[in-house]
Amino acid sequence: MPEKLIEVKNLKKYFKVPAGYLHAVDDVSFYINKGETLGLVGESGCGKSTVGRTLLRLTPHTEGEVLCEGEDILKFRASQMRAMRKKMQMIFQDPYSCLDPRKTIGQIIAEPLVINKVVPHKNINEYVLELMSKGGVSRRLYNSYPHELDGGRRQRVGIIRALALNPEFIVCDEPVSSLDVSIQAQILNLLQDLQDTMHLTYLFVSHDLSVVRHISNRIVVMYLGKIVEVSPSHELFKNPQHPYTKALLSAIPIAKYQHHRPERILLKGDVPSPVNPKPGCRFANRCWMAKDICYQQAPCLKECAPGHEVACHLV
Ligand code: SF4
Repeated sequence: MPEKLIEVKNLKKYFKVPAGYLHAVDDVSFYINKGETLGLVGESGCGKSTVGRTLLRLTPHTEGEVLCEGEDILKFRASQMRAMRKKMQMIFQDPYSCLDPRKTIGQIIAEPLVINKVVPHKNINEYVLELMSKGGVSRRLYNSYPHELDGGRRQRVGIIRALALNPEFIVCDEPVSSLDVSIQAQILNLLQDLQDTMHLTYLFVSHDLSVVRHISNRIVVMYLGKIVEVSPSHELFKNPQHPYTKALLSAIPIAKYQHHRPERILLKGDVPSPVNPKPGCRFANRCWMAKDICYQQAPCLKECAPGHEVACHLV
């Protein structure tokens, strides 16, 4: 049996706004096994990045639990959390803003080592140079500043910094969305190689289903703060069940020569406001299958095949 590293239970994150409460993350539960990559997908504003940030306590939660090897880290004191941060790291979306422009690459990578005192001071330089080689960044860039690097190299530095403390779990928050396609492939391959050699576990947040398919073992689909489908990656692409997932998959661009083209589903209507959401299914105003019950009662996640769960009254 695979061992669970992270278990998220009924996690909620509401933001107070003048009109009430914005339900960014609303009662989501999922788990991540050791050594696996869990993809988290959905359109912009669905709450996927907030899940990643809340899970690492970069944003305070409203309710719920995040268990790491059975311990609820949301209840940890600051000193306990500091120790836990060595195990849990984050790769940020924007390689242009996530690096301090006044520090050199060597200083940026060395910072977590200095703060956490994990390497003797006299060995830090050599350790940083080793990490740079592992992450595919030339040692000659040790004294360069972030503005001297292109986007791909900056993102590699962000990845190396996340690896510096030898973590077990990394939240990758859209790590390739601001890079061009050839660089995206290099970064994804680097993440996979590092996962194999360092036995890492990833939560991979992205709005790009093709990228998530490439890297994930299982996929969680979110819509407006709720999880609507969870499935092994191959099963989700072969047999999507939730109407929203079907619409998302139909929107993946397909090359002209490919014969199998799923029918394009164009969603009508706007995404409703996450502020004080109405009861019922959050997708109801855009769903072509909606019935009366969908407007009255929120569907729960139910298993429709081994490991495949869907939140829809009609599945
Ligand atoms: Fe559509 Fe109803 Fe299913 Fe929601 S519960 S996805 S509205 S059919």
